[in-house]
Amino acid sequence: MHESFPNYSGGLGVLAGDHIKTASDMNLPLVAIGLLYRFGYFSQYLNDDGWQQENYPMVDTFSLPLELVFDGSGSPLLVEVEMPGRKIFAQSWHCIVGKVDLYLLDANISQNSFEDRKITNQLYVGDKELRIQQEMILGVGGIRLLEKIDKYPTVVHMNEGHSAFSSLERIRYYITAHGLSFVEASELVKSSTVFTTHTPIPAGNEEFEDSLIEKYLHPFMSASRLSMQEFLNLGRIHQNTGEKFGMTPFCIRSSAYCNGVSKLHGRVSRTLWREIWHELYDDEIPIDYITNGVHVPTWISDEFSRLFMRYVDPQWFRKVGEPEIWQRIKNIPSNELWKAGERLKERLIAFARKKVRESLMRKSGSRQEIEDADNLLSADSLTIGFARRFATYKRAYLLFKDEERLKKILSSTSRPVQFIFAGKAHPADKEGKEVIARIIHIARQDGFKNRIVFLEDYDLETARYLVQGVDVWLNTPLRPMEACGTSGMKVAINGGINLSIPDGWWDEAYTEDIGWTIGRGEEYKDHEYQDFVESKALYDILENIVIPAYFNRSADNLPKEWINKQRHSLSYTLAAFNSERMVGEYLQKYYNNASRNYKELIAGNFQKLRDYCGWLVHLKNEWENVKFVSFSHQENVEYYHAEETVFFEAQIDIGKLKPTDLQISIFIGSQDGTGKVINEQSVDMEFHHSYGTIAFFTCSITPQSGGVFYYSTRILPAHPQMVRTVEPDLVKWS
Ligand SMILES: *Cc1c(COP(=O)(O)O)cnc(C)c1O
Repeated sequence: MHESFPNYSGGLGVLAGDHIKTASDMNLPLVAIGLLYRFGYFSQYLNDDGWQQENYPMVDTFSLPLELVFDGSGSPLLVEVEMPGRKIFAQSWHCIVGKVDLYLLDANISQNSFEDRKITNQLYVGDKELRIQQEMILGVGGIRLLEKIDKYPTVVHMNEGHSAFSSLERIRYYITAHGLSFVEASELVKSSTVFTTHTPIPAGNEEFEDSLIEKYLHPFMSASRLSMQEFLNLGRIHQNTGEKFGMTPFCIRSSAYCNGVSKLHGRVSRTLWREIWHELYDDEIPIDYITNGVHVPTWISDEFSRLFMRYVDPQWFRKVGEPEIWQRIKNIPSNELWKAGERLKERLIAFARKKVRESLMRKSGSRQEIEDADNLLSADSLTIGFARRFATYKRAYLLFKDEERLKKILSSTSRPVQFIFAGKAHPADKEGKEVIARIIHIARQDGFKNRIVFLEDYDLETARYLVQGVDVWLNTPLRPMEACGTSGMKVAINGGINLSIPDGWWDEAYTEDIGWTIGRGEEYKDHEYQDFVESKALYDILENIVIPAYFNRSADNLPKEWINKQRHSLSYTLAAFNSERMVGEYLQKYYNNASRNYKELIAGNFQKLRDYCGWLVHLKNEWENVKFVSFSHQENVEYYHAEETVFFEAQIDIGKLKPTDLQISIFIGSQDGTGKVINEQSVDMEFHHSYGTIAFFTCSITPQSGGVFYYSTRILPAHPQMVRTVEPDLVKWS
């Protein structure tokens, strides 16, 4: 949320902070839960050789905006979580974020053994056992805390799989406190849970060995009366296999609402997890997307805020989520827009000089070096920023693929260009650290000196100066590894322009009017080759398009074409990628519906829930008896004339089910190599009559064109209380 409160690492934490602030702006009754990491955050400095060193400042709770939560008797309120052979206690810290309460759980208390006190020390620990302990404190402890402070949740939004055990605790709670069956409790929890996946990288999805799951989650297995195999299946893509327990499959199975964080990431996630619903078409897989956004009041510069007050709306910060107001960006006069940018760049340069100077003093740099820092960078230069985690897929090295060509770009005195880099590598990521060291080495050579600057210790403060002060924001991820990315949005709302691989948000945002793309989204198997092609494209676009556009000035010394782009980029990004749009979508698509499901299902002592689950159990028992008997067209291929209406009739043995328990659809199209019908047109069939257990369903279709058509018929369950109409194992094809 703020640099004064270092309790995050990278984009996921920053996004959560923006989400909380936005929920406050929108008056949503949201409560946030996290862990208080004693050594979660590290600050970065580089040694003389450019090798990243880490410093772990201890979190001093007394100097942070945190208050311990007390119970009625005045002692710290503790939650208990059972772990093998012992109980672990956690206290919690309360942070008030506007109108939203954030609680951070903390196991570092004297009630725990010396070893257990360390559970919440570190963020993203490698040790799997420690991870599962942390996730139990977050998920199970988090829900128990809410119960104790009388804020038991109606809807839970799991931000990435780390908090997945919250579902298990809620299931256990409804079974033990309300006497529900496992099916009832899990259906209730599912219909009121939202899950957001944030990574398109398979390895980024956490898994646990069976033995660890059994060791730690035993109490939940017995409370649910599930066998070990049934329990493990909840976290598996393929049922009854030796697959490890995956947190993402578990979340997908146990949440009615699932989403990725950009349009492209939604598509990639559907492909990544399609095996869970291997019998559906990819576009039917119930993983949707809500593209991330940024909290504009947090990231906006003073200069632009003032321009907005003057030319957009004096109360713009109360109307961020109203897209119309941002059309008024066009009213900002060119010279004012340009001056604001210049002022912000000067500030960034002053900040960079101070940072570099301080770093040199710490490293006992020479007097000359320290004095030179005061002349670092220039406000006349086209300033290109690149700041992000130094994960390999972010490819910070791409700009340096051809050093000679880069040197040539940087050597121009008539069209000066400079780059500012910042970012941390994960402490265990040697490759990431090597990229940083390489940039430092290059930046010391003649021809690069003073034109490439690395700012140490990328944090929210550095990010703010950078995103507000640069002219261009460079992003070179390996598509489609960037789930969304938000730093480019922060740049665009402050008048900077994006130059990026079309990945994450940029894949859906990019148009010629607002910025530049490197390549057209090609994905190559050979990454070496891809680097080669895309670095070449990057140099080309810098030399031929970006640099000329910046230095092409009219008589008043303004770059007209550039300012035009800035305006389009500003108004579009402000309207489409602010976090009120994002949280508004969560509210409309998920929170409201999940909350309505919850209220409906629990009303009258869980009446609707019991009825629905009674039906579901009956349906599952009967499912194997449901069979296709015959079809009016015996072959699954026919020749049709265009515009000719064709009637279909399916006879289905529905056993003891009612016709209304099923939804029958027909899919028509061509056929792929595997015999699967490529879905071009689909129609729901209607119940016509029945004869014994055989139900007759009919429909008519008028193909838009003539030719050979393949078709296939599908059976799904149907019930008004069924939130997600497609469940992994309840699909039948003719
Ligand atoms: C916004 C932000 C991020 C996330 O942005 P990406 O585009 O994903 O890199 C990460 N770190 C900091 C400090 C930020 O401000």
